[in-house]
Amino acid sequence: MPENNDPICPCCMERHECRIVREQESGTWRGVSAVYEAEYFWCGLAETYYVDERLMEQNYNAMIQAVLEKEKGNDLSSPHKRE
Ligand SMILES: [Zn+2]
Repeated sequence: MPENNDPICPCCMERHECRIVREQESGTWRGVSAVYEAEYFWCGLAETYYVDERLMEQNYNAMIQAVLEKEKGNDLSSPHKRE
């Protein structure tokens, strides 16, 4: 894989492949806790997870959506997920 086609990693500022990993997180919003899927960059050089503002906002919205769904009676932590 040619290295110079890789994006600049926002974590370590080097060019390398930035994988996005999904993690099950639990969060609390308006006093209701719910499980949601958060996305992180994985930086293999620094061996750390990294979120930029876009992912942070996306993860926050995912948490709110999970709480709203839970209030409606749907639990996103169940294996059946609509796409
Ligand atoms: Zn990196």
